[in-house]
Amino acid sequence: MLNIIVFGAPGCGKGTQSELIVRKYDLFHISTGSILRTEIEKQTELGKLAEAYVHDGRLLPDDLTVQMLSGILESNPDKKGFIFDGFPRTMVQAETLDHLLREKNTGIIAGFNLDVEEDILTERMLKRGEDQGRCDDTPDTIRKRLEVYRIQTEPLIAYYKKQGKLFKIKGNKPVGDVFEDIREVLDRLIYQDK
Ligand code: ADP
Repeated sequence: MLNIIVFGAPGCGKGTQSELIVRKYDLFHISTGSILRTEIEKQTELGKLAEAYVHDGRLLPDDLTVQMLSGILESNPDKKGFIFDGFPRTMVQAETLDHLLREKNTGIIAGFNLDVEEDILTERMLKRGEDQGRCDDTPDTIRKRLEVYRIQTEPLIAYYKKQGKLFKIKGNKPVGDVFEDIREVLDRLIYQDK
């Protein structure tokens, strides 16, 4: 299986790049953020629980997101691979994901960290807030999300580095150029695998 993680600060472009990777490599895209936004829109039980967290830019408790993710893995047994976009976001989530994949006799092949300066991230999210009206793209929530990323998610860089799976990609370039950098790494890994 070809399992990939794309992570980085909010606004780094992980959703956009994940879409491109999915299309090129025929993978199954799991975006926890967009799943949660749909759940909130539909006001499901999970959506009601998630609403305040997402609105404030805080992370949901790990048990909720872990449960959600393991459900998705269980109900998609025949995929060629997964792209994890927005998960893991904490060390507990990262360790649990490794465990869940090990149970399926597979693992993560690469963790792409999209690196973008904070002032550019803020600018992108403020613009997205105006264009798309996402409830968490407001100045206060953006500040909170950046802080949450630094404290809770950034440690994953060291976690995947230690496993030799970290690929830092400069995200402050045109979309197609960022994708080229990712594609180069992935093609090399896939070729090595054969
Ligand atoms: P971004 O990375 O641009 O902030 P996402 O769409 O990935 O946006 O996530 C939006 C929100 O959804 C997060 O701020 C958080 O509240 C919630 N969320 C998404 N994924 C997770 C996760 N793995 N664990 C906890 N909360 C999550």
